Amino acid sequence: MDMKDDILEVLVSTDEIQKRTAELGQQIGHDYQGRNPLMICILRGAVVFLSDLMRAVPIHVTVDFMGISSYGGTNMDSTGVIKITRDVDTNVAHRDVIIVEDIVDTGLTMRALVDLLNTRAPRSVEICTLLSKPQRRKVDVEIKYCGFEVPNKFVIGYGLDYDENYRNLPFVGVLKPEVYEKRKEEKG
Ligand code: 5GP
Repeated sequence: MDMKDDILEVLVSTDEIQKRTAELGQQIGHDYQGRNPLMICILRGAVVFLSDLMRAVPIHVTVDFMGISSYGGTNMDSTGVIKITRDVDTNVAHRDVIIVEDIVDTGLTMRALVDLLNTRAPRSVEICTLLSKPQRRKVDVEIKYCGFEVPNKFVIGYGLDYDENYRNLPFVGVLKPEVYEKRKEEKG
């Protein structure tokens, strides 16, 4: 069965993502002229976004990767207590850091990560996220670069997963309810 058969609704199309990513890349290039920012990609969801975004940035940038898991969270919810499962190799001190994230939901993960990175004496820390769900915010996080605001729905595609699937969809969408029901039945 084709993955696309599981999609109820496309929220952000491939064309829209491409256009917005190009704009964000230009904006970053303009804002960080002469500063060689360090883009920290949050694994695994932001990998697809990073790979398009970094190619849209017209200045020198370096990239590194960070893995984060949320303590005690479920597949679909976070707690704000984060565990670094993979840290960056790059020294963050005196660097202009741009965190590249897939989605800011409650904001708890980004709040904790910004606080953590700030203990490492960076020159600056900003957030660039593909998606944001402002209605779900529990803590204030300043997002300098945001691709799209999405409604309060669980979204998948373009790097975002449901149970590690659908990351390779080239758009952002919502799954049909029966997909969750089927998965629950399979898992017992
Ligand atoms: P927050 O700490 O802002 O509540 O959650 C951030 C993380 O939760 C994201 O990095 C992502 O992994 C996950 N998340 C939040 N909302 C969604 C969603 O709609 N779809 C998917 N696939 N993951 C989400």
